[in-house]
Amino acid sequence: MTVLSKELESVLSDVIEVDVFFDGFSPHNSVRRTLWPIAGSIVGKKEVFIIAIWCGETKNPSDLDIFLNDFINETLELMDGFTVRNKHYKLKIRNVIADAPARAWLKRVNQYGRKFACERCTIKGEWFGNRITYPPDKEAPLRTDETLFEQTHKEYHKGVSPLASRLNLKLLSQFPLESFHLFYLGVMKRIVSNFLEPFFPSDFVRRPRRLSDWKYFKGTEFRRLLLYDSFLIFQKLPQEVYQNFLLFACAVRILADPMLIKDYATDADKLLRLFVEHSCQIYGLVFVVYNVHHLIHIVANCQLHGSLEEFSAFKFESFLGHLKDLLHTPGRTLSQIVCRTMEKARLYPSFVTTELSLEQCHDIRPTLGCQGKQYKKIRTSDKMFRLKSGDAYCLTKANEVVRIENIINCTDNIYFIGRRFREKCDLFFYPFRSSCFNIYIVNDLGSLRKWCLNDIKKKVL
Ligand SMILES: [Zn+2]
Repeated sequence: MTVLSKELESVLSDVIEVDVFFDGFSPHNSVRRTLWPIAGSIVGKKEVFIIAIWCGETKNPSDLDIFLNDFINETLELMDGFTVRNKHYKLKIRNVIADAPARAWLKRVNQYGRKFACERCTIKGEWFGNRITYPPDKEAPLRTDETLFEQTHKEYHKGVSPLASRLNLKLLSQFPLESFHLFYLGVMKRIVSNFLEPFFPSDFVRRPRRLSDWKYFKGTEFRRLLLYDSFLIFQKLPQEVYQNFLLFACAVRILADPMLIKDYATDADKLLRLFVEHSCQIYGLVFVVYNVHHLIHIVANCQLHGSLEEFSAFKFESFLGHLKDLLHTPGRTLSQIVCRTMEKARLYPSFVTTELSLEQCHDIRPTLGCQGKQYKKIRTSDKMFRLKSGDAYCLTKANEVVRIENIINCTDNIYFIGRRFREKCDLFFYPFRSSCFNIYIVNDLGSLRKWCLNDIKKKVL
């Protein structure tokens, strides 16, 4: 509540919308112990706060109703209304963010690996090899909030979820298929590990790690590989495999971009359906497991919730990483977390990043006549640029790719001094030209020019 009340100072509405996150993890390698935190984040804010934590020696809490009871009771109270510093608020839960096993457990429906496990349709999976697979040519009626509430598909449900019966949460539209687990740790990891690896040449290297280290990749690394590096480094794959991969990668680029998704969501849907169909032809039906099948439902999901980052588990997963870091010894796990969290809450909001900061003052030209302090590094709310590094490239609003060579804070504006790449061409042409995604092969740096901060559209890698 300490963290939440400080967050509320900047919330204008009297209805506080939050996303709630559930996940379990083992904090210690040497001790059999699982933590199940329930975490929250106010919609539109980056900060994550702990609501409750369960700690036990089994993989899951054994009784879902008991696990959720206090959380539901408190949520009901807050939904009725609460007062902070003489201002009255009401709480509303927007979405439940969780991975697929946690979603199934919370909703009391079948887990993946069961014949009826799709969260969005009633398709019957088929055993193929040692897995349940979903033939791409099969269609099945879609589930809705109503059919889930009424439990019309008896073979799918295992009981009544207290989140539906007590909090009235909608089991479809408030449980998005989130990207961290579905795309990056799900489909992307599956493609790289099981299907692309035989095609990798021995010199397949990416920075900062070799691609052959994929087993140790985290979600953020699979995300970077899928959204950026793969377009170039996977070009060495056989053309049929590369082009099929581009269907998936271009669709995710569209869905991850708040601007592109507005105009190209239907195209992304076609690309993903084609990707599933072609993958089945290239790799066999064994490829189309639970995660891959869900790709055909993801665009409908984005039409409800927005671009992928809007409902991704990324900020919550990195919060879990911080929680693990708080634990110094295997003993007294919960009290360690409570103490450290309270310490951090007292220090809050020093953890909040400022909107704009200039760092690493220097005195090296070029300045192009700009009078002001020179810096090597700048952070804005959503990006960071640093001279002489991979962080020194940007795309301007006029679609110029620029290498930044100096940052100057003048009285009227912040200026970037740099050079534009004069040659810019497409890296690929199928299924769209790569320039649609701001992906180019660039060459031939021009002469020095200056741009002001407002001229910059985005960072490029
Ligand atoms: Zn389905």
